[in-house]
Amino acid sequence: MPNPDDHLPDADLAPLHRITLREIRLPLVEPFVISSGREDERRILLLTLRDADGVEAWSECVAMATPNYSPETIDSCWQMIRQHVAPRVLGKELASPQAVHAALQPAFRGHWMAKAAVEMGCWGLAAERQGVSLAGLLGGTRERIEVGISLGIQPSSDHLCRKVEGALEAGYRKVKIKIRPGRDLDDLRQACRVAGSGSHLMADANSAYSLSDIPHLRQFDDLGLMMIEQPLAWDDLRQHGELQRQLITPICLDESITDVAKAADMVALGSGRIINIKPGRVGGLSSSLEIHDLCRRLDVAVWCGGMLESGIGRAYNVALASLPGFTLPGDVSPSARYWSQDIVTPEWTMDDTGHVQVPFDRPGIGVEVDVERIEQLTVRSEVLDVASQ
Ligand SMILES: [Mg+2]
Repeated sequence: MPNPDDHLPDADLAPLHRITLREIRLPLVEPFVISSGREDERRILLLTLRDADGVEAWSECVAMATPNYSPETIDSCWQMIRQHVAPRVLGKELASPQAVHAALQPAFRGHWMAKAAVEMGCWGLAAERQGVSLAGLLGGTRERIEVGISLGIQPSSDHLCRKVEGALEAGYRKVKIKIRPGRDLDDLRQACRVAGSGSHLMADANSAYSLSDIPHLRQFDDLGLMMIEQPLAWDDLRQHGELQRQLITPICLDESITDVAKAADMVALGSGRIINIKPGRVGGLSSSLEIHDLCRRLDVAVWCGGMLESGIGRAYNVALASLPGFTLPGDVSPSARYWSQDIVTPEWTMDDTGHVQVPFDRPGIGVEVDVERIEQLTVRSEVLDVASQ
């Protein structure tokens, strides 16, 4: 049952007539390395949604090329959208993005990123149709949001220290350091020395540890980090609870939280004290709002993570991060952090106090999509329309 205090945005839709899928390849400024893999170039699945009235919106699927973060990939999402998502939404009378979310649940397990790409596009469409900003439609209250940076595993501790120093000088409010066994405590200790303390630093293990590492992980407590993210298995809650009971450092869950029920389980089991909400990972913005509302009620801090999105995906993250429960800095780095040239104008920028402005004054997702550049970068495309269903 919805809680009467929860924010229930009023967003209306016309039936969807067409979904265009496109894959672009966007070269990263530098490779991004985590405990389970490496990205040199980002394969990105972009969607254009068009409704019966001719209104259009762009959205982005956050799945990666390989299933090292999530079971989903850009290729599995393409197929799932074509075979299972599109037939449930094209030409259907779904009055709101929440109705789209509901239509994608019965007898359709998992595939959160495929579902989210379409559901989030419907939020973009609803904002366009109503001539309001996406952030305003979602109930955002912050005009500017604090920005954090995520640093992949660096070639050496010295490289890492220089990156941490540079990030703090640039104004970033939180520095997330990717770790793995063998590249953790020493790296973090040196980073803390550079930063003056651990109070603006956090570690993300992407599931690289097990319960047998508890004595090792307890040494992290001396560093005073903001949090340690997803140290144990990607789909675990119970073992994280066992670990959290033995750690002072708050555990933040990322991969394990795929819907509001998992968030409630995290709280019930004591598996963590913070949630990194990535709308793509939880099936879209309707689900993100549910998690946000639950966490606000239970006084659990949330923040918005990133998935190496282009400026289109970032627009959705910025809008979500403007909600009142997002009390910790989000991984919504400016475009130039990842791309020599983004696919939106204006590009996302951060001021020297580490904030990004939320475009409440622009309708829709708040940035113009550079269609010409996208066409140059497109390596394949497919049109799904009402007639093809
Ligand atoms: Mg993570």
